[in-house]
Amino acid sequence: MESRQCSLIRSNFESLTDSPDRTHALSNSFYSILFARHPETREYFPASMGGQRDRIVHGLAHIVDGLDRPDSILPLVRQLGREHRKHGFDPSRFACLTEALALAVEQANGDDWTRDLAESWSTALDLVTTAMTDAARADQGPAAWVGTVVEHRLLTDDIAVVRLRLDRPMDYVPGQYVSVQVPGRPRMWRYLSPATPADSTGIVEFHVRRVSSGWVSPSIVRHTRVGETWVLGSPLGSLGDRDDSDRVGRARLMIASGTGIAPIRAQLMSMARRTDNTPVHVFYSGRFSYDLYDLTTLDALARVAPWLTVVPVVENAENPRWHTGPAGPQPAVYEGSVGRIVADHGRWTDHDVQICGSPSMVRTTVSHLRAAGVPLERIHHDPQP
Ligand SMILES: Cc1cc2nc3c(=O)[nH]c(=O)nc-3n(C[C@H](O)[C@H](O)[C@H](O)COP(=O)(O)OP(=O)(O)OC[C@H]3O[C@@H](n4cnc5c(N)ncnc54)[C@H](O)[C@@H]3O)c2cc1C
Repeated sequence: MESRQCSLIRSNFESLTDSPDRTHALSNSFYSILFARHPETREYFPASMGGQRDRIVHGLAHIVDGLDRPDSILPLVRQLGREHRKHGFDPSRFACLTEALALAVEQANGDDWTRDLAESWSTALDLVTTAMTDAARADQGPAAWVGTVVEHRLLTDDIAVVRLRLDRPMDYVPGQYVSVQVPGRPRMWRYLSPATPADSTGIVEFHVRRVSSGWVSPSIVRHTRVGETWVLGSPLGSLGDRDDSDRVGRARLMIASGTGIAPIRAQLMSMARRTDNTPVHVFYSGRFSYDLYDLTTLDALARVAPWLTVVPVVENAENPRWHTGPAGPQPAVYEGSVGRIVADHGRWTDHDVQICGSPSMVRTTVSHLRAAGVPLERIHHDPQP
């Protein structure tokens, strides 16, 4: 795409989503158009669209952001094409999603819609449709995996470990994530990151935190039963990409908060099987000490892996009075915002950086690292919901 078209789309998209109301309006318009024109697509979405609506706009934001660097978005777009096969959706139907998006964008622009905007959006959305369709058609692997829960264990009031045995092994790269559908929440797919590397017997482990107002995570943490079956889509993301030439041979800085440690743990476990690792610094953070629920695993790894340094960080030195479970490490080494602590801790400008955590933690940490001189292209994180 021409860079002029990329800039036009970016500024247009920013204006269409410059407030929560406008963002909701764009998502609502997309789904209204999609369900009116293609009513059969309704069955792929949950009965209640509440938590679903804005996901399409957040996904589009990620694509718009990288339009002028297709290499940065096309791998994910292709993965999404493969991943959407889990719905049993024929790849030839992807075009109806982008058609509805194009009409929603046109409607949101109202009288400001120009021929230039129409052509630019059409070029961008065609690029996405073609990449998704081609990738889905070319994929010979399974459309989805069925996993039987073999273990469900509460680590804290809010965090559960769930282990599944898949109907066939999944060949994911440590650091990738998958979408998951659990029995009590049909069609409410949520992303989870395996906390262990791919396993030839099909065992996969997830760490799930309960989001108090959430639809799916409370159900997983509280109500998962051994023997129930989950459905998993194909792996997504490039956090642990081993083939990116710019990343090979660099020392690594990995920053996690809460269950964001899962994709980092999977990578560390995989690295522990090799002998050629570059130095790795892991900053593992939580609001309270008890949030660092997996620190013992990381410490055990660091004891046998001379390339690994683990730095625990908490925002508050004291656990809250209402917390009744295990206290976590005492005392934690650093106290404060993890982004600031990392930036103050050393010089990271040549490191390959990964950040895993909530959207606000990722945003703040990126801005601390940028201020400390770390180039943006060295900072990796998954798309934010
Ligand atoms: C790439 C990726 C990997 C992920 N890996 C994991 C993982 O390994 N383990 C895990 O537990 N979760 C993980 N998540 C988050 C997970 O996908 C869900 O978003 C989370 O479990 C909440 O789902 P829910 O249905 O309970 O909440 P929803 O019903 O989707 O949301 C309810 C409300 O909670 C807010 N909310 C959603 N998530 C959070 C959050 N993390 N913190 C605070 N507020 C939130 C929403 O904005 C909304 O207002 C990952 C997310 C992404 C994007």
